[in-house]
Amino acid sequence: MQYDIIFISGEKLFDHSLCGIAILKKLMEKRGYSVGVIEEPKKESDVLKLGKPRLFFGIGTGCIDSMVRNYTPLNKKRTEIERLKFVQTIPDRALLVYCNWIKRHFKDSVLVIGGVEASLRRLTHYDYWDNKLRRSILLESRADILVYGCGEKQIEEITKRVREKKDLKGIAGTCVRSREVPDGFTMLPSYEELLKSKNNFCDMQNLLSNDENLCQKTDKSFVLQYKSPVYTTEDIDEYYGLDFTRKAVDDRTRGFEFSIVTHRGCIGNCNFCSLRLTMGSKIISRSEESILKEIKHITTLPHFSGNIDDLGGPSANMYGMDCSVCNKDCIKCQNLDKSHKKLIELMKKARNIHGIKKIFVRSGVRYDLAPKDYLKELVKFHVSGKLKIAPEHVNMRVLQLMNKDMGSLDDFIKEFNELSKCDLGFYFITAHPGSTMKEAHELADAVKKLRNAESVQIFTPTPMTISTCMYYTGMNPRTYEKVHVPLTYREKKEQKRVLLLPTNKTSQGIWQGIWKRQEYTKYIRR
Ligand code: SF4
Repeated sequence: MQYDIIFISGEKLFDHSLCGIAILKKLMEKRGYSVGVIEEPKKESDVLKLGKPRLFFGIGTGCIDSMVRNYTPLNKKRTEIERLKFVQTIPDRALLVYCNWIKRHFKDSVLVIGGVEASLRRLTHYDYWDNKLRRSILLESRADILVYGCGEKQIEEITKRVREKKDLKGIAGTCVRSREVPDGFTMLPSYEELLKSKNNFCDMQNLLSNDENLCQKTDKSFVLQYKSPVYTTEDIDEYYGLDFTRKAVDDRTRGFEFSIVTHRGCIGNCNFCSLRLTMGSKIISRSEESILKEIKHITTLPHFSGNIDDLGGPSANMYGMDCSVCNKDCIKCQNLDKSHKKLIELMKKARNIHGIKKIFVRSGVRYDLAPKDYLKELVKFHVSGKLKIAPEHVNMRVLQLMNKDMGSLDDFIKEFNELSKCDLGFYFITAHPGSTMKEAHELADAVKKLRNAESVQIFTPTPMTISTCMYYTGMNPRTYEKVHVPLTYREKKEQKRVLLLPTNKTSQGIWQGIWKRQEYTKYIRR
């Protein structure tokens, strides 16, 4: 049989709404197309196994960039145990490799690229692993069109256009190559201009948005980004209401089979996070009816034992915070309804559905947004012994550079301990721009006092984030002020090592003991 569409994915196909390719496959089948999927191709001949598609190849490496998947934050190849629960390795820069394989065997096939790797490399970007600027992956891959962010609407339109042999220009939420620039596009600094000046790179960073038509000259052509389409509650109700089998396919998906997605987007806008430029910084909530219907359906599945694995989204507690009046920073806006009323109502109704034993909330809770009545519900009915939160750091300057300086961790812990006997687990990031050894000590001392660090990560400069712009330029793009950036393997390693020291030693003491004063001063002034 000849498929209409063949998706090539760097991940296993997990037939669940958490898997982007699974949604696209189910949706396009519902629209009457035949869809084949090639999972984690290991060698060139693997991409030949389903033959040539009638319409196009859709190529993506999944929800994580292949370089993040293959390398540690210290740029070391991941060993077996460090592989983020991925069983299979994929090639470095897998998206380019897969495109080259296809181009060699199916020269005239239409290539559509998408997923996180494509979305965050859609324009000129700093590549940490090569430590240099790279051109848009649309140009490097020689693909026909790039889909960024969630791609359902884009894939439907591309399918229609290819079927009708129409041009692929002008599709919202995509990027194409072009010789000329239509009206209504904001010109970004060109690739050549970015190579010349880091100030230009900060200028570009400040213009990046999903809500703008942008264009960038590279060599003799332009990359045109068409602003994102508007997704609605009705749209995502349809996508998440599709009939998934929810069978786990590996260790990475086990324990997520009965996870329920309540909304898309995140209003947090943390500078180290790329969600703003993929899924977007506005909340799109599903209807309560659609979520409850999905839960009722799950209770009828033979392999369901009564527990819902998670009820949430990128952040657990942003359901119902939909507002698209403007493009400003919602999390700091007085107009936004942060009462959590809709979410508390949903949680109540969901846990009272027949056949439900427990509904867990495992997505990260934005603690600085969480009101008392929500926390009470959460710890009483939806948490199993430990609530995980991500304060990321304790130094106010670093938190400001992370754009995560809202709320007070100490106040939250005090309030939480009055409310519950549950434990708190903490996620921290060290060696983020702005963090010198002094801030690393401060974090280390706080972590020791908290005694429950769930994870301490070294900052990884992934493409297109504001923190990565700081990492590459040594400047805060919002103010063009200089920031200290831990660049060397040694300093990053040290910033992590002091966090892992035994609790009975203060990192400051250890630090001064290990390094003579002048070494310390030299390091800081570097
Ligand atoms: S009015 Fe406030 S909450 Fe609404 S979109 Fe604008 S910034 Fe966000």
